[in-house]
Amino acid sequence: MDILKVKNLKKIYHTKKNEFLAVDNFSFNLKEGEFVAIVGPSGCGKSTILSILCGLDEASNGQVDYNPKLKFGYMLQGDNLFEWRTIYKNCLLGLEIQNNLENKKYVDKLLKTYGLWEFKDTHPSHLSGGMRQRVSLIRTLATKPDILFLDEPFSALDYQTRLAVSDDVYKIIKKEGKSAIMVTHDISEAISMADRVIVLSNRPSKIKHIYNINLENKSTPIENRKDKNFAHYYDLIWKDIDYHV
Ligand code: ADP
Ligand code: MG
Repeated sequence: MDILKVKNLKKIYHTKKNEFLAVDNFSFNLKEGEFVAIVGPSGCGKSTILSILCGLDEASNGQVDYNPKLKFGYMLQGDNLFEWRTIYKNCLLGLEIQNNLENKKYVDKLLKTYGLWEFKDTHPSHLSGGMRQRVSLIRTLATKPDILFLDEPFSALDYQTRLAVSDDVYKIIKKEGKSAIMVTHDISEAISMADRVIVLSNRPSKIKHIYNINLENKSTPIENRKDKNFAHYYDLIWKDIDYHV
C-alpha cells in the first residue's frame, strides 16, 4: 500500500536578485514499511525535497498526499542533542512539545531495549557518537511516527562509526516497523540500507533513475555491502551521478 504519494514537486527559490529552480518534476510513491534512499551530489536539492515531503517547507508546485492521521518524525543532519539536557530529557523533548507525556513508557522501553537506560541521567557529552545517534533516533521514535525522514543522519560520524551506526539505526527502524525516507550523498550507504534508491541529477534535481535493490541475501547494511549484487548497483549509480571535481 502506498502511504505517501508525491507528484510533480517543483521548488523555485527566490533570492534578492533572481530566482532559480532547485527541484523539478519529482514524483514517487512510498510503500508502507519501505525504506527509500534519495542520493545525489551535494547541493542538488536533496534536503529541499525532504523538507517539502515532511512539511517543513512548501513546494512551488506539485502535491504530497498522505493520510492526515499519519505521523512524521525527522532526524536531520548531526544528532541535534541539547547538551544541557540529560539523555532522558532529550528523548522526551518531542513529547513535551506536543504536550503528550503518555508515550513516556514507550521511551523507557526504547532506552532499555537499545542499551541506553543506564545513561538516562547523564548528559550527551558523556556518550560516544554512535550512542548519541541512537538517542537522537529514540527521540524521533518517541512520538510514534509512521514515517521517518532522515537527512544525511550519519554525515558527522567517522567512517567506521558510520558503518556501525547505520547498521544499528537500520535494525531499530525495521524492528519498530517504520517506513523511512533517507537522503544521502553516499552511494554505498543508500544501497546497503534501502529497498529502493532514487538517483537525482545535478541542480535542478530531477529523477535520473529509480532502482529496486535486489540483493542475493538481503540482510543488515554491513552484511549487504558484501552481497554479490552490491557492486553492480554501485556501478550503475556511480555512472548516473555527475560528480564534478
Ligand atoms: P542538498 O541537500 O542536495 O545538498 P539543498 O536542498 O540543501 O541541497 O540545496 C539545493 C540548492 O538550493 C542549493 O544550491 C542551495 O544553495 C539552494 N538553497 C537551499 N535552501 C535555500 C533557501 N532557503 N533559499 C535559497 N536557496 C536555497
Ligand atoms: Mg542537504
